[in-house]
Amino acid sequence: MVDDKGGEGDGRIFFKSEIFKDGPKAAGNYSSSIGAEQGLETFGGGTPSHKRSRPSRTHLEPAREIPVFAETDVLVVGGGPAGTAAAIAAARLGADVLLVERYNHLGGLSTGGLVIWIDRMSDWSGKHIIRGFAEEIMDRLPKEAVAGPKRTDWGSKDAATAAYWAQRTSAFHGIVTWSPTVDPEALKTVSMQMATESKVRLLLHAWAAAPILEGNTVKGAIFESKEGRHAVFAKVVVDTTGDADLIARTHAVMESDIDESDIHHCMNTAFLVGGVDMETWLAFRKNDPKGFAAFMTEGRARLKFFEKPFVSWRNDVALFMGPRLSGYSAVDVEDLTTVELRSRQLAVGHVEAYRALAPGFKNAFLMLGAPQVGVRHSRRLSGLRKVTRQQWDTGQVWDDEIGVSTSLSPKFANISVPYGALIPADLDNILGAGRHVACDASSHTFLREIPQCWLTGHAAGVAAALAANQGKAPRAVAVADIQRALSRQGAYFSPAIAQALRPSAAE
Ligand SMILES: Cc1cc2nc3c(=O)[nH]c(=O)nc-3n(C[C@H](O)[C@H](O)[C@H](O)COP(=O)(O)OP(=O)(O)OC[C@H]3O[C@@H](n4cnc5c(N)ncnc54)[C@H](O)[C@@H]3O)c2cc1C
Repeated sequence: MVDDKGGEGDGRIFFKSEIFKDGPKAAGNYSSSIGAEQGLETFGGGTPSHKRSRPSRTHLEPAREIPVFAETDVLVVGGGPAGTAAAIAAARLGADVLLVERYNHLGGLSTGGLVIWIDRMSDWSGKHIIRGFAEEIMDRLPKEAVAGPKRTDWGSKDAATAAYWAQRTSAFHGIVTWSPTVDPEALKTVSMQMATESKVRLLLHAWAAAPILEGNTVKGAIFESKEGRHAVFAKVVVDTTGDADLIARTHAVMESDIDESDIHHCMNTAFLVGGVDMETWLAFRKNDPKGFAAFMTEGRARLKFFEKPFVSWRNDVALFMGPRLSGYSAVDVEDLTTVELRSRQLAVGHVEAYRALAPGFKNAFLMLGAPQVGVRHSRRLSGLRKVTRQQWDTGQVWDDEIGVSTSLSPKFANISVPYGALIPADLDNILGAGRHVACDASSHTFLREIPQCWLTGHAAGVAAALAANQGKAPRAVAVADIQRALSRQGAYFSPAIAQALRPSAAE
């Protein structure tokens, strides 16, 4: 999906795709006056005006005894792509697993956030490299729940095929890729089925409030639910909250360097629009550039920040993943509230403008505002190892590789992901996976994508189960054991690692 733009000083690479092309910045925010074909319209927020000052007094919360809800081998907190993969993978290795999620579904942003565009799982040659749990869950989705190119087209540079898929999320740099759109309800269903079949004990509607910590060792977590407060003890905890909620509430160092004018910092609540005819819209975009430019100009005049739709898994449903709001924090409750208010206002405005002006949108209606706010970045682990921008050029293969990510463009090597990126340097008995794995800000642009979250979640689950079974801290588990278990569960490795694993895997 993403392309790169020349690094700035420290080698930061900013998001720039064939669909999102960023325009000039104004006062730290992207200008709204960018050309019609330059669609990235991030706009500012984060001014203190939406916040009331808070009283300076504090309240001393009395200490109290709380009931223990469970004692388990592996506690996974957060049921997004990473947490779902982690819980299922751990349970399949025989661990007793409790998966706790604050909402009523699994899938996190990939379902409740309406981020239904599952980014690239094939590399630029068309090889399927993000596999294992990712491959299995995609394969289990019903045919009608997935819209994407057929396998024989992955890696194709045929101009007509690439042009067709470029309009439909699945071709970049003139290469067809495996990055389909999916039905979020089907993904919820399959996620729950897989969790149940694997004997994961699922606890929904429960919010993790704090880790239970003894020195550097995490012993479990405290939850709030309709029942009040309770504790869960676990041999190993996996934090897959997306924001590293548990890890951040310890003394562990976190990283959070993201430029506020970078799309990766932005937040917004996505929305689906029903009753549309996307083929008519796509034909209009392709065949009538002047009409399209006039439409965008009129849209901007009406709304100032005006967004283009993406295809979905159905022709009659359009996906809007913006406008993107900059300057807000995903871990500030007033910012979260403001993002919801502004996103709702913009969603309604978009539907009105599109219904009035856009070919294919005459009968459009606002079908669903995402139940989960869209957060691209908040905090990242300070891990034992991290993926950095330098690795894109060198093609370094880590000896503790747990999987291989796709890279941003054909000029970069595939990205070897180290186990050390899941281990907070300052803590024992807890792993982090998903969009807060240890990496630099540039590498976060792709390591946060859904397939990569499946990849790191899968590995965290395997490592947690092995650690619990062996009575060891996760950092003490032999990497070869983790790699072999992942390999048996279908994960892909760089050729050098796969070669080293071969004799053992055949045992
Ligand atoms: C607008 C937008 C567009 C994007 N576009 C794409 C794209 O095109 N393709 C792509 O592949 N990726 C895309 N992404 C990125 C991707 O959606 C996320 O990075 C990915 O879903 C992260 O997965 P995760 O499991 O780490 O976290 P999440 O999906 O955020 O899941 C975390 C889960 O933990 C739960 N949770 C959080 N805190 C607690 C707590 N304290 N207690 C209990 N439960 C908790 C949440 O409810 C949630 O279910 C996009 C993201 C956004 C916001």
